[in-house]
Amino acid sequence: MVAFQGGCACGQVRYRMLSAPMFVHCCHCHDCQRQTGTAFVLNALIETDRIAVVSGQTALHGMPTDSGQPHDVARCAACGTAVWSHYGGRKVLSFVRAGTLDDPAALPPDVHIYTRSKLPWIALPSGVPAFEAYYDSKTLWPAESLERRRAMFR
Ligand SMILES: [Zn+2]
Ligand SMILES: [Zn+2]
Repeated sequence: MVAFQGGCACGQVRYRMLSAPMFVHCCHCHDCQRQTGTAFVLNALIETDRIAVVSGQTALHGMPTDSGQPHDVARCAACGTAVWSHYGGRKVLSFVRAGTLDDPAALPPDVHIYTRSKLPWIALPSGVPAFEAYYDSKTLWPAESLERRRAMFR
């Protein structure tokens, strides 16, 4: 199994994903734009216990969100790079920032979401599902990923 590796900008935080993620989101919502300071965020969804922190310290930062749901972002304690986050207080599920992978191209998006706030000059590829807001994971995720998610919240 491929182990995806990555880390923060200063190099203190290094991590390994112990398996492929369940699904990869490219989120164009305004929260993600504000929090990253750019056009969208690329999140690889994986069980938190499948992230091995090889070195460094992360600190969780609670983010205000438009929905009011909790969003906790794990940042390198030294340089502040966001490496992953947890939505809705569900710490067992991590959204790994794919841009922190050593090979950021390794995990292309499986879906584009919240395209209603997508910046107008970004052209989405044909062949990747895209949704105005959120989407129905039950119809889009592979069966194996749905089973992994079920196992997490069992
Ligand atoms: Zn760092
Ligand atoms: Zn978003």
